[in-house]
Amino acid sequence: MDAQITRHFADFDDFLNTSRREFMKKWTSKFNANAKPSDFQSIKTLGTGSFGRVMLVTHIKSRKPYAMKIMEKEHIVRMKQVQHTHNEIRILDAINFQFIVRLDYYFKDNVYIYMVLPFINGGEMFTHLRNMKKFDEQLSKFYAAQVTLALEYLHFMGLIYRDLKPENILIDKDGFLKVTDLGFCKKIDDERTYTLCGTPEYLAPEVILSQGYSFSVDWWALGVLMYEMTAGYPPFYAKDPMRIYEKIVSGRFSCPAGFSKPLKDLLNHMLQVDRSKRFGVLVGGTKNIKSHTWFKAFDWEGLLMRKTRPPFVPKVSSGDDASNFDAYEEEVLRTSPIEEYADEFKKIVAA
Ligand code: AMP
Repeated sequence: MDAQITRHFADFDDFLNTSRREFMKKWTSKFNANAKPSDFQSIKTLGTGSFGRVMLVTHIKSRKPYAMKIMEKEHIVRMKQVQHTHNEIRILDAINFQFIVRLDYYFKDNVYIYMVLPFINGGEMFTHLRNMKKFDEQLSKFYAAQVTLALEYLHFMGLIYRDLKPENILIDKDGFLKVTDLGFCKKIDDERTYTLCGTPEYLAPEVILSQGYSFSVDWWALGVLMYEMTAGYPPFYAKDPMRIYEKIVSGRFSCPAGFSKPLKDLLNHMLQVDRSKRFGVLVGGTKNIKSHTWFKAFDWEGLLMRKTRPPFVPKVSSGDDASNFDAYEEEVLRTSPIEEYADEFKKIVAA
C-alpha cells in the first residue's frame, strides 16, 4: 500500500473517532427547534415526494438560500411516520460530514414540520446522468469515492443509510456531491434490521430474502450505483419488480464492453450475493475498496480536503440559481388556528 493511502487511513480513523464523540453528544440531546417559519421567505418548489415538498427559501436575516423540507403533520401521522420523522431530524442534526447534507434549522408550526438544509444548487446526479446518458469512469470514480467516504462516516456513527440512488445525490456548485434524504437512515449499531425499504433496483439480496441485514446493504447499493453511473442503466433491471428481485437474488449481471477490467473486478466484489465475501464488510472494511486497483493512484486525501478538481462542474449563475431543478406547480401552505397533532410532535420544542 502506498504511503499516501496509509496516511489517509490513519488520518481518517482519527477524524471518525472525533466525529463519533461529537455525533453522540448531539444524538442524546433534546429536540430544541432553532427557528420559525417567518424567518424565511419562500421562492419556489425544488422537489416533491410522498413526504410533502422541498422549497427554495431565503433566510431573511442572513440572506442565504436554503432548501426547506415541509412535511404535513397530518400526513406523517396517517402514514405512521412520526417516529421516522423524529429519527430523520435527529440524525441530520447530529451528523457533520462534507459529503452528506446537513440540517441548519428545524421547527414546527400548527400544521407542518420544517427541516432547513443548505441549498445544493448543482441539481441531482439523476438529472446529470440522464443528460449525459452515462459518466466516464473518471467521473464515476470521483463520485463513488465520495459516496464511499459518506457511507464509511455513517456506518462509523452506527447508521445504516438504505436509500442510495442517483436521485438522492446532489451535486454542489463546485462539482462535489452531497448525499441527501436520510428518511430511511437508522441507528442500528451492532444489531440487524428487517424492514423492507429502499428502491427495487438498489435492494440487496438479503433485504429481498428478509434475512435480517446490516451495513452490507449499503455496499451492495454502492456497487449498483457504480454500475449505473458508468453504464447509464442499473445492473439488475426489468419492468416488473418481481423480475428485478429474481435477477438480484441470482446475482448474475453482465457489464457493457466498455467497462475497464479493474471496474469489473471491483463490481464482482461489491455485487456479491454472499455477504461474507462482499467488499465493505470484510475484515479491513473500506480499505478493500479504497486500495482496490480501480482506485489506484486515487488521491483520497486530496478529495477529503476538496483539493481534487471535480471532472464535471454544473452550470450555476448564483447561490440561489435553481435552474438545475425541474419546475413544479406551487401550492399555498395550509394554516390552522390550533396546533394539530400537538401530542405526537411534543418532543420538538418551539424556538
Ligand atoms: P428529499 O426528500 O430530501 O429526497 O428531497 C426531495 C428533492 O428535493 C430532492 O430529490 C432534491 O431534488 C430536492 N432537495 C432536497 N434537499 C435539497 C437541498 N439541500 N438542496 C437542493 N435541493 C434539495
